[in-house]
Amino acid sequence: MKIVFATGNQHKLHEINEISKGSGIEFILPGEGFDPVEDGNTFEENSYKKAKEANRVSGMMSLADDSGLCVEALNGAPGLYSARYAGTQQEKIDKILKELEPHTNRKAKFVCVMTLLDADGNVIHVSKGECHGQIAKEQSGKNGFGFDPVFIVDNTNKTMADMSEDEKNNISHRGKALADMLLYLKSQIL
Ligand code: IMP
Repeated sequence: MKIVFATGNQHKLHEINEISKGSGIEFILPGEGFDPVEDGNTFEENSYKKAKEANRVSGMMSLADDSGLCVEALNGAPGLYSARYAGTQQEKIDKILKELEPHTNRKAKFVCVMTLLDADGNVIHVSKGECHGQIAKEQSGKNGFGFDPVFIVDNTNKTMADMSEDEKNNISHRGKALADMLLYLKSQIL
């Protein structure tokens, strides 16, 4: 079964198709005209807005995620604004390292909220995943994307970028939210 995944980020699409391998579900891009406005006040609202836009352009069952990095010493920032926190991936990493220089508390978490809409655009399931860790003092690792090179996962000595794809997917915020979503899909839809 094909479900539209509301993203323009090929890396995310690849990640969720890897996690879903063998489930009988293939996630595909929304295609032409997908242009969500992410002006909600919560991860839940933004994930709903993206799913709704993907459903509008495709007319198909649509799944969206909204995710971000919340840093305790920065009162939860960049949070909802993680994607727009700085220009390039490297600029984001440099900025977070600089902002945290004066802080000893380096606790942070990744959050991911997923919203599933049926083909008529009605919400049928919402799931959430979190991954807790610390912001590293310097970047490490070449895998993943975004803030992965500066996020040390709790109970490991690795940044997310030091992890293999499988390792990251097992412990990540997106992996957890999707695991819950797949359970729902398998029990109620497939
Ligand atoms: P969005 O969910 O597409 O709005 O993007 C959220 C932003 O949060 C991304 O552009 C990244 O900067 C950051 N982010 C979300 N998930 C991850 C992750 O798994 N690794 C690293 N950065 C992430």
